[in-house]
Amino acid sequence: MPSMIRAIQSLWQQIARRPTRRMALWLALLLLVAGLLVTLIWLAGRYEADQNQARVDRDAQDAASDIRAGLTRNVQSLQALRTSLPQWKLDAEDLLRSRRELARLEWRDTNFKLLASAQSPYIAAPQLPLNPRDIPYGDLQLACERARRQSGPMYAPSHFSPLSAGQGSELMELCLPLIQAGQHQGYLVAVYGLQAVLVEIVGKPLQRGQELSFTEPDGTRLAIQGVARRGGRMFTSQQLLDLPGNTVVLRADSWRITPDLFPNVLTAVVTVMSIALVGVLLLLGRDINRRLRAERELADALAFRKAMEDSLVTGLRARDMEGHIRYVNPAFCAMTGFDADELMGKKAPMPYWPPELIDEYQQRQAVRLSGNAPAREGYESVFIRKDGSRFSVLVFEAPLIDAQGTQSGWMSAILDISEQRRMEELSRASQERLQASARLATMGEMASLLSHELNQPLAAISSYAAGTANMMQEPSIASPQDVSHALTQIANQAERAGKVIKSVHDFVRRRESKHERVSAQSLLDAVMPLVQLQARKLSVQVQMGQLTGLPAVMVDRVMVEQVLLNLARNGIQAMEATAPAQRILHIRARTLGTQWLEFLVADFGQGITNEIAKQLFTPFFSTKAEGMGLGLSLCRTVVEQHGGFLQFEANQPNGAVFVFSLPVASTNMPSNLDVAQ
Ligand code: ADP
Repeated sequence: MPSMIRAIQSLWQQIARRPTRRMALWLALLLLVAGLLVTLIWLAGRYEADQNQARVDRDAQDAASDIRAGLTRNVQSLQALRTSLPQWKLDAEDLLRSRRELARLEWRDTNFKLLASAQSPYIAAPQLPLNPRDIPYGDLQLACERARRQSGPMYAPSHFSPLSAGQGSELMELCLPLIQAGQHQGYLVAVYGLQAVLVEIVGKPLQRGQELSFTEPDGTRLAIQGVARRGGRMFTSQQLLDLPGNTVVLRADSWRITPDLFPNVLTAVVTVMSIALVGVLLLLGRDINRRLRAERELADALAFRKAMEDSLVTGLRARDMEGHIRYVNPAFCAMTGFDADELMGKKAPMPYWPPELIDEYQQRQAVRLSGNAPAREGYESVFIRKDGSRFSVLVFEAPLIDAQGTQSGWMSAILDISEQRRMEELSRASQERLQASARLATMGEMASLLSHELNQPLAAISSYAAGTANMMQEPSIASPQDVSHALTQIANQAERAGKVIKSVHDFVRRRESKHERVSAQSLLDAVMPLVQLQARKLSVQVQMGQLTGLPAVMVDRVMVEQVLLNLARNGIQAMEATAPAQRILHIRARTLGTQWLEFLVADFGQGITNEIAKQLFTPFFSTKAEGMGLGLSLCRTVVEQHGGFLQFEANQPNGAVFVFSLPVASTNMPSNLDVAQ
């Protein structure tokens, strides 16, 4: 039964999805129910009409048999009358009092001559003429004739007997032959008032709510008893009252007053049940509509969620407690190149695990499934695509808690970070290239200084060489010591030139980035030749602070050398307008706590205005005609990469001091240990 209801419901829902069809169905249903209702009420009404008709028929039959029995009883009573005067008269009067339907009794002899008569005190009936000759040869004589012949009672047809004041009554005579010892003695005539017959003989209960009447075959009423209420519907039944010598029609009429709304209980029950049925149908309809709406909302919500899941770029994967994959979203499939069907239900080793890492991943998964892994913490992993290519992912796992609050598995969000890694790599490479370019740019600036610097040894070499050549032309003046001295000088100058070139070369050469333990002294020694080159050009005096006794730092020395060189160069250039006596550049270092070593580069230049300070570290910001504006921004990047920071302040009385900090190398670290970045 429930399955049938479900089937009907689903059919209904299918149909009900189309609004016009739904309306038509509702209309059909309502029409059907209305039709059913009307039919039921009609049937119930008809049933009740049949009942009423049957009741009237029964009543008419009962009335007819009552009348028959009453008349027969009267015949017997009449026969019992004593045929001697004055007893007959006494008996007759008694009988007339007890049988009120009898209007009059007459005793007549064989010649139809009246011997005695008695009149009912209740019904007026005219006396028949005393002399038989005066009686018109009518129905009565005919009846009596037939009664004599048949030796039994015989009824004459009824007739209207007018009384005074237009009144009158329908009377019917009964003729009873008097026979004694086989001899015909005369006749007993009993006059019945038909009205009284209806009143007295028919059982009283039968008459209520009904009208009983004697009618002629053409419908003319002879006598009526009981006035039924008029109006409404009439039920009629006719019974033939077959009396010897006469046949009268007994008619029973019964009226129903205005037709009832509910003719009987059956109709009422059917109506109430039908109304209840319609009510239930309406409620059901409302319920179905509500369900449909809820279903639609649910479908919308599901579609929205699915759209959200499908448009996510993050891969989603759900696994049950045993590690079987229960769900993957399209992003995860796109990431790994596997279809959802290929992954569904799979457990370790997963098809997207690199073969050589299966053992490691299996252990990792075992730890995670046992619940020992820190929840909601991301870890990096490498997956393999279906085409064999690998990619880095960041996986976040969280317990999958169902609606009952119990954990049913694990939910993972997977981010493809291969692109991010590539970008990081690219940015690192471009950063390195930028730094190299910056170094080259610095070198470009220094090229003129270099040529000037190289000029001196080259000029010296050239003049020593020319002197030596002269000496060779005049060997008498030149001593071998002189020549040897000149050659030594040439060699020294050449070496000096070589050193200059090497210092530049060392600086420019790209080296692998590595952190090493370096003393402050050696850092400054490395850049001093280049600083000096520039300082000499602008007649700046470079003063170094006390550097011995300071702890070594753990740095990428190439980078830090460039920072020192940049800051020194900036300081020197800032003092172009300073009075020559005050063109002094201070470079010193000091400890800052135990962890840090601070380098200070101070000048007495024009200083840094607030305007410039705002953009000082912005790449490509420069106030110099030939400046690239990259120096300070690179310096800050380098210092921050080492964990320190770079800042500046005003120098007294004028100029600027740039300060940066570097991490102190721990004492037990070997001086040349590579530390991975
Ligand atoms: P560049 O030297 O190529 O201009 P930097 O990034 O090294 O690029 O410097 C940016 C600007 O900061 C310089 O143009 C200059 O105006 C200002 N600046 C840097 N150092 C100093 C300093 N010691 N004194 C005054 N101004 C400075």
